[in-house]
Amino acid sequence: MSKVLIIGAGGVGSVVVHKCAQVPEIFSEIMLASRTLSKCEQIANQITNMKVKTAQIDAENIPELINLINSYRPDIVINVALPYQDLTIMEACLATKVNYLDTANYEPKDVAKFEYKWQWDYHNKFREAGLLAVLGCGFDPGQTNIYTAYALKNHFDEINYLDIVDCNAGDHGKAFATNFNPEINIREITQKGKYFENGQWHEIEALSEHKPINYPEVGPKESYLLFHEELESLVKNIPTLKRARFWMTFGQSYITHLNILQNVGMTSIKPIIYEGKEIIPLQFLKAVLPDPGSLGENYTGTTSIGCYIRGKKDGKEKTYYIYNNCDHAEVYKEIKAQAVSYTTGVPAMLGAMMVLTGKWNGTGVINVEQFDPNPFMEKIGQYGLPWKEIVNPEYFPF
Ligand code: NDP
Repeated sequence: MSKVLIIGAGGVGSVVVHKCAQVPEIFSEIMLASRTLSKCEQIANQITNMKVKTAQIDAENIPELINLINSYRPDIVINVALPYQDLTIMEACLATKVNYLDTANYEPKDVAKFEYKWQWDYHNKFREAGLLAVLGCGFDPGQTNIYTAYALKNHFDEINYLDIVDCNAGDHGKAFATNFNPEINIREITQKGKYFENGQWHEIEALSEHKPINYPEVGPKESYLLFHEELESLVKNIPTLKRARFWMTFGQSYITHLNILQNVGMTSIKPIIYEGKEIIPLQFLKAVLPDPGSLGENYTGTTSIGCYIRGKKDGKEKTYYIYNNCDHAEVYKEIKAQAVSYTTGVPAMLGAMMVLTGKWNGTGVINVEQFDPNPFMEKIGQYGLPWKEIVNPEYFPF
């Protein structure tokens, strides 16, 4: 019996609320707090088996956060607001002595850059306070880190090569839309690509390296090499890795729209003056694009995300693929969400459950691959994200 405070009432926040409410024996009390109270209320009203409390909060205001946490006294805070709010929410958790979990690492607003350093710097503070901050517990980062840890624990003596592949073979019927917060998504994709090889990070021009990859039950899709945050923690926590890369699919129409928006300056995060007022073009673009939480209704097709791994077992080379496919329409039927929000929100709920039930314990700031993956993997299928593994697969694209 535990109390959870969920911060952020977007596409992912809605999934976390629904999934926590499906397990009332663990999450016996739920509060959803976000910038816009009406969005919290709308989500809370969809939950019929229990009363979800709601609150308005500016998650960049530490005193406001401290007041809210002290008045509700949760056992854990699940942060599914935006990466900009990670540090303020972590500060408030430290001040109130509450455990913390998120799905995306901190980004400063004025530089399109993400790395774990800012959050890892809190390790000693969380340890000294006897608290746990769980970082990156969505799908990627999150489930992909746990897949890798699971492979290492159960199938390999050492892992040498890792390629994480992320395909959204869904069709939402819109000309252009992003599947999670447009501002964060476009900042991520328009950055230079980066991968790790032979002890060094290598940078490439954005979206310049790509190849078709065959996704199970989907088929071949053009996949682009990107930098993704889980590479940073996996390379640190699995030191036998010789190469680690991340690939994501994009349709030609998506890339054409993105190129045009970029060429005309709409993806810029440098402020401009418009009718005497300072605006940020990317934030304006976000305001006119579809809300990712609203894409579910007519979404068809599936996501397919997994990890191709090559390493050694008993002195012999071994290859392995582990993945999940998640169907947009099925997810909509279950909780009126789309699969990208769903695949992020379900691991966040289960990660919180792991902490609350003591399956994941310790103190400090910890990435999910550092915990025992087995109890998580035993349960994730039951909560909506079943997985498949293939040892020495016939098709191995790397
Ligand atoms: P949305 O934009 O749909 O939702 C974000 C929510 O945060 C909105 O409700 C927003 O409020 C709220 N918010 C923003 N700023 C503040 C603030 N200052 N104070 C309080 N609330 C605030 O995004 P998503 O739901 O798509 O994504 C949520 C998070 O999940 C992001 O951090 C994203 O990076 C991460 N993510 C992680 C993935 C993974 O696999 N690890 C995959 C996909 C997403 P308002 O409604 O007023 O705008």
